[in-house]
Amino acid sequence: MSEIASPQRPLRVLIVEDTPDDALLLLRVLRKAGFAPEHLRVDSAAEMSDALAAEAWDIVISDYTMPQFSGLQALEIARRHDADLPFIIVSGNIGEEVAVGAMRAGAQDYLLKHSLARLGPVVVRELEEAAVHRGRRDAERSLLSQQERMNSILGALGDIVWSASLPELRLDFINAAAEGILGRPVNTLLGPYENWFETIHPGDRDRLRNYFSGIERGAADSLEFRIVRPDGEVRWLFDRARLVTDEAGRPLRIDGVATDVTRHKQSQEQLYRAAHYDALTGLPNRKLMEMRLQQELARAGERDSLVALLFVDFDRIKTINDSLGHNAGDIVLAELADRMRGVLREEDTIARIGGDEFVVVLPDIRHEGAVEGVLGKLAAAIAPAIAIGEHVIHSTASIGVALYPRDGGDGATLLKNADVAMYAAKRSGRDAWRFYTPQMNAASAGLLALENELRGALGRGELELHYQPQVDLAGGGNISGFEALLRWRHPKRGLVSPADFIPLAEETGLIVPIGEWVLREACRQAKVWIGQFNPALRMAVNLSARQFAHAGLVASVAAALADSGLPAANLELELTESLVMQEPEKSAGVLHELKTMGITLAMDDFGTGYSSLSYLNRFPLDVLKIDRSFVNEIAAGGGDAALCEAIIAMAGALSLEVVAEGVETQVQLGFLARHRCDRIQGFLFSRPLVAGAAADLLHGKRCLDLPSEAAGSAS
Ligand code: C2E
Ligand code: MG
Ligand code: MG
Repeated sequence: MSEIASPQRPLRVLIVEDTPDDALLLLRVLRKAGFAPEHLRVDSAAEMSDALAAEAWDIVISDYTMPQFSGLQALEIARRHDADLPFIIVSGNIGEEVAVGAMRAGAQDYLLKHSLARLGPVVVRELEEAAVHRGRRDAERSLLSQQERMNSILGALGDIVWSASLPELRLDFINAAAEGILGRPVNTLLGPYENWFETIHPGDRDRLRNYFSGIERGAADSLEFRIVRPDGEVRWLFDRARLVTDEAGRPLRIDGVATDVTRHKQSQEQLYRAAHYDALTGLPNRKLMEMRLQQELARAGERDSLVALLFVDFDRIKTINDSLGHNAGDIVLAELADRMRGVLREEDTIARIGGDEFVVVLPDIRHEGAVEGVLGKLAAAIAPAIAIGEHVIHSTASIGVALYPRDGGDGATLLKNADVAMYAAKRSGRDAWRFYTPQMNAASAGLLALENELRGALGRGELELHYQPQVDLAGGGNISGFEALLRWRHPKRGLVSPADFIPLAEETGLIVPIGEWVLREACRQAKVWIGQFNPALRMAVNLSARQFAHAGLVASVAAALADSGLPAANLELELTESLVMQEPEKSAGVLHELKTMGITLAMDDFGTGYSSLSYLNRFPLDVLKIDRSFVNEIAAGGGDAALCEAIIAMAGALSLEVVAEGVETQVQLGFLARHRCDRIQGFLFSRPLVAGAAADLLHGKRCLDLPSEAAGSAS
């Protein structure tokens, strides 16, 4: 009350009244009630509207009946302007009914002109109420705008924001982002659990159920899971959620935010793939193989089973790379990888751990025999030829096997021993497999030392050529030429046989520079001898597979001839069956080039390789050298003597010259002479000789004593 009575309370009052005196009366009453009114009196709609528009008013006090205006009209104008502006009707002659009607229309109160005692308190009350109304309305308005702001923020977010009520996980809210990520309109997701749960990837539904119950128990707050869009696209979401409870702690709902992490996930996967898989073959790389091996070893320990580790090395990939280029090598590797994977079990691991090296891990092996079965399948898968353009490539692999726990208790040891066994397989002539034995380690250590020494041998002048004479049977037993045979005069080991280091030179690629040296040295020597002794002498030089496949072969032969001045007719190149059959088409091309140069081409060790005569026509050969294993059989007079005979006959039919190598006895010589073998080479006449000794032979014009029957048939 004291507040109401406090003097000079400012009041801006708009008085709607046609009678100025009545207005003054009102003002006086108001002053008495403690107000300091500032007022304006209006008595028409236009004036009133202007006044409301021009200034802010605390209250409107209006007459009810006026000559050109009415209280009800005034009320309407006031309400249109401001719903909360207090409006009090003061009238001289208002009936109960009219008054009630006016209040229904929005007037706050009515008073009669002759009893204005209530005016003060009414004004005070109305001002207070208006203040309350205004406050509430402002609050509502700001709430509304906050809500709008929230909605706009949620709508603009790239993440899904959602809220689901418990216990039935009914989706009450989900923002617009859901549509973009899930590919479904928001309104189809809202509501019962089933509406949105079908968007979850079937493989992740159980996990999601566990997640929700985990949130309710306070045991979970985030999960990564997949959803499936209507078009089938799968996306990864990362969801964080929290439980909302009432004051009593009862669960009300779960609110969450889900982020689309598909891109992140994909690049993570790519990173993982790049780090664990080989790009060319798609197989696990060394790192992943080692991890799997580790797991398998641990598991085998528990189950008391064996693990086999296979070290697979392809025998000719380096040759293919050298001759056809790396693309061809890659195609062959990828094809071989596919084939090998095709014959392995799901639980086996095959990894590419280096250029042409693969490792196979076979878990759960019961006995060695089971490994042999797999080895057989791998060999069969590798065997079929691979066509690259017009080239046909035959691949073989050397495979070393180490068994856990017998050959090693850990991955590194097993890998090392499988590698050692692989080298043993390689040395045994390739296209073979070997199980590791402890003896192999010593051999492989020796081999490694040898390899290092061989690298320097050429530079240190430790390589030399020996020459084994070939004798012309038809020409009365005279020396027709020599085969150049490589020797390594090792400072400690003495003279090392080519059989002991040529495979190694081949393996390491050292054969290319070494072979080139042989070619040059043999041509140089032959040039000297044809000048000194016999212009028709022929020098035979052996070529190895890798040397033959090397792109620079023809050029290097041409250079050796040009630089030495040896006529091409005096050079014979010896090739083996397996060498030309690796890529028959390409071989034929190279052989034709050499042939065109005027070089003689000989097939060495004939009969030991493919034993297929059908290819002979395809290559421009001049000479067949019967392998000494057949010549060896001649004395026994068994089947091989017949084979020798057949080879000579067939060579005759194909107009090929025949050379028998490894002739050691008179019996052999007699047989060969009788069957019109053209040349022979062997210990019977001479072992391979150092250059000086060979020159002595030529100088002395030594010739072979031919058996009388042969001499007879030759004449
Ligand atoms: P190959 O080309 O078949 O050479 C003939 C081999 O038989 C030579 O062995 C020779 O000493 C041996 N031999 C000759 N006459 C007789 C005989 O009456 N009885 C017996 N038991 N053996 C005889 P060598 O010199 O140890 O060469 C072995 C192989 O090494 C050669 O076999 C050839 O394939 C390879 N080789 C030798 N020199 C070279 C070379 O310069 N380059 C290449 N790529 N390979 C070579
Ligand atoms: Mg030879
Ligand atoms: Mg031979």
